[in-house]
Amino acid sequence: MGIKDSIIDLMPGRLVRVFASPYIAGKGIASGVAKADELHGQQGLYSTVDLLGEEVFRREDVEAMVQLYFRMVEALKDRPFASISLKPTQLGLNESEAYCQDNLRRIVAAAAGHGIHVTLDMEDRHFTDVTLRMFRAIREEFENFGIVLQSRLYRTDDDIRKLHAKPCKVRICIGIYTEPPEVALQDKPAMKDKLFEQVQLLLDHGHYPEIATHDEPLLRRCLDYLDRQGVARDAYEFQMLLGVPRTGIQQEIVQRGQIVRLYVPFAEDWKYAVHYLKRRLAHNPAMAVMVMGNLFRS
Ligand SMILES: Cc1cc2nc3c(=O)[nH]c(=O)nc-3n(C[C@H](O)[C@H](O)[C@H](O)COP(=O)(O)OP(=O)(O)OC[C@H]3O[C@@H](n4cnc5c(N)ncnc54)[C@H](O)[C@@H]3O)c2cc1C
Repeated sequence: MGIKDSIIDLMPGRLVRVFASPYIAGKGIASGVAKADELHGQQGLYSTVDLLGEEVFRREDVEAMVQLYFRMVEALKDRPFASISLKPTQLGLNESEAYCQDNLRRIVAAAAGHGIHVTLDMEDRHFTDVTLRMFRAIREEFENFGIVLQSRLYRTDDDIRKLHAKPCKVRICIGIYTEPPEVALQDKPAMKDKLFEQVQLLLDHGHYPEIATHDEPLLRRCLDYLDRQGVARDAYEFQMLLGVPRTGIQQEIVQRGQIVRLYVPFAEDWKYAVHYLKRRLAHNPAMAVMVMGNLFRS
């Protein structure tokens, strides 16, 4: 364990909570729904609501998670501006791929009944293959299911080409997990150039890119390029994390009549919010500096 990880582990929960608070809607499903309503009502922003949690191991806990997602689906119905994001490791992947896929399928089916889109988040490189397999199988059956791809991974161009014969909504981001040089770009500007290229690659393959970045020059590069190419403004959208201060450019994009969707995490128990932030800080210690900077700016 590196010294930065140890520092994060020693950080008192209360301090981590201060770090996390601008980025998390609150406790309970109602807080996620209320935040989605507020963002849409006040700023015209869309949301993808995410339940924070750690990897789940016991069957009863996985089932409790599935039931919670059913309640989320119920709570979010009649809100065309809200979707759901979820992670395979919360839904039984440690037990088996088949079990996890079945749980995912149940949630996607319930969401389909209310016209709610579901995005399968992408975890680290050890989960890429299995996540793609489960996605492809369920996408065969349901329209309302999308996935995330990470531009830092060398494999992503290929994954886009082989993603699916059907058009898919694909969140394209640089990826939060630090990956080794054998499998991933190490240089952030190169990851962002790749992301830019992959927006076009996704469009070329008939998919709907969800461009997930807070990097303003990259956002403007995408907007300019897509305008010059004459790409329809409803053929793609932008996504950012709740709490990262980008109001100016978000409103600019909303005024263009396009979707800006925020990732809105909530926790059933505050300890999961603490775990979430610690994990992200551990994966990307530079984030602590960003979070501090943003806290003072907002
Ligand atoms: C909606 C959404 C969903 C995502 N889903 C996934 C996923 O499923 N799998 C995955 O691996 N990654 C996911 N990510 C994370 C993503 O891959 C990046 O790690 C993250 O968006 C930062 O990259 P960036 O392109 O914004 O560039 P950066 O250069 O990292 O950030 C640009 C600037 O944005 C601000 N900023 C960025 N991130 C944060 C932050 N967390 N807190 C405070 N300020 C910040 C800082 O001011 C920074 O200087 C998601 C991101 C978003 C927006």
